Amino acid sequence: MRGLIEIDGVSHAYATAAGPLPVLENLNISVPENEFAAVVGPSGCGKSTLTKLVAGLMMPDEGGVRLHGQWVTSPRSSVGMAFQNPVLLEWRTIVDNVVLPLEIVAPGMPQRTRVERAMQLLEMVGLAGFERKRPSELSGGMRQRASLCRAIVHKPEVVILDEPFGALDAFTREDLWQTLRNLRREEPFTTLLITHDLRESVFLGDQVVVLSGRPAQTQYTLSVDLPEDRDIEVLYDNRSVDMLATL
Ligand code: ADP
Ligand code: MG
Repeated sequence: MRGLIEIDGVSHAYATAAGPLPVLENLNISVPENEFAAVVGPSGCGKSTLTKLVAGLMMPDEGGVRLHGQWVTSPRSSVGMAFQNPVLLEWRTIVDNVVLPLEIVAPGMPQRTRVERAMQLLEMVGLAGFERKRPSELSGGMRQRASLCRAIVHKPEVVILDEPFGALDAFTREDLWQTLRNLRREEPFTTLLITHDLRESVFLGDQVVVLSGRPAQTQYTLSVDLPEDRDIEVLYDNRSVDMLATL
C-alpha cells in the first residue's frame, strides 16, 4: 500500500567550506494514512533537515517527498507543524493563537465556528479554562499543548512534530505523550514525529525509524522495552530489525 507520506530515496548534503557534508543518504520512509511514524536519532543526524524537506522548505539533492502521491516542491497549508519552542503570539489569547491556521486556510469560515473548533481541541488536551489567557500566563507544557492544537486545528493532511517535547521536564513530557495519544484516538492524523528520545519514539510510534548519524555510521547500543500490547515496526537505517535491544 502506498503511504500518505512517502519519503522516497532522499539524499541531501550541505555545501560547507570543507566541502559537501552528506546528511541523509537514500532515506525511505512510508507512512500510511492516520499512522504515526517516529524518526529517532542523535543530535546532528539530519532530523531537522528531514523536517524541512517534508515541509517543502527545502528540496533534496536526490529523491523526493510525496504527500498523497503529489511531489512536495513548496510549503503547503495541508501540513501542520509543532516545534520544540512553540511560537505563540503573545498579543493573542490562547484560543486566538489556535484559530490562526483556520484564518489562513478557511477565510470564509465564521469566526464563531473557528472558535468552537479550537475550544473543542483545547478541552481535549486539558486546557479548558485557559482559552482566554495569554501564552506568557501558561507553563511550557501548557504552551506545547496549545501548539499541538494549533498544528491540527485545520485538519491538515500531515502533522510534523520536530522535537515537540524536547524542552520539557520528564514528568510533563510523559503527560504530553499520553495527551497526544488520546488526541489521536479522538481524531486520527498522519504524523511524522522527530525526536532524540528513544522511549518517546516507542511510546508513540506505529513505526520507528532509527537514524544512526552520518558519515561515521556509528552503531548505537540502545535498549528499551517494547510495549507488548503494541505492534511496532522498527527500521534501523532503513533495515528492518526485530527488537530495538538487538541494535
Ligand atoms: P538534527 O536535527 O538531527 O540535530 P540537522 O538536520 O539540524 O540535525 O543537521 C544535520 C547536520 O547538518 C549537522 O551536522 C548540521 O551541522 C548540518 N547542517 C544543518 N543545517 C545546515 C546548513 N544550513 N548548512 C550547513 N550544514 C548544516
Ligand atoms: Mg534538530
